[in-house]
Amino acid sequence: MPSVITHAAVAVAAGLAFGPRDAPSQFWTASIACSVLPDMDILAFSFGIPYGHFFGHRGFFHSPFFAMILSLLMVILLFNHLEFFSKQWFFFLIFFFLVEASHGLLDAFTNGGLGVALLSPFTNERYFFPWRPIMVSPIGIQGLFSKWGLMVLKTELLWVWLPCSLMVLFSYISGWLTRKG
Ligand SMILES: [Zn+2]
Repeated sequence: MPSVITHAAVAVAAGLAFGPRDAPSQFWTASIACSVLPDMDILAFSFGIPYGHFFGHRGFFHSPFFAMILSLLMVILLFNHLEFFSKQWFFFLIFFFLVEASHGLLDAFTNGGLGVALLSPFTNERYFFPWRPIMVSPIGIQGLFSKWGLMVLKTELLWVWLPCSLMVLFSYISGWLTRKG
């Protein structure tokens, strides 16, 4: 996985770039939760569930299928004041889905561990992209404060934080130009 903070940063950047300007606090809570929750599957190791198992790390919980379930739950639980199937309701649903799906896709750009079960539950096959510039993050907090952790940080800054910052910058500039025009 890229580190948890980087997954959360993607959610925040997407929220700043595409979210409503007056987004309520539960929008940020749900966005960040969707971006980091797939990695709760590392708990599977403590239950003796192996890495390559259906419910193992980077398995079902990293799939876009699970992203659909979780994003739907988020909208139902945290945005129950919205009319079902309204434009806003769909916006939040799709936004949370994309934020969560970004997690598995980012993991598929990493250079270590097993691939991601992107097509789960239909197949447990693990996938990587052919180009994997992001150094895989150590599992556990301790490893993050090592030489390995520093190298992870470097590749994440270059390949995730930089594009995310540019995305936010462009959205602010285009918003500003639109308002001006
Ligand atoms: Zn992950």
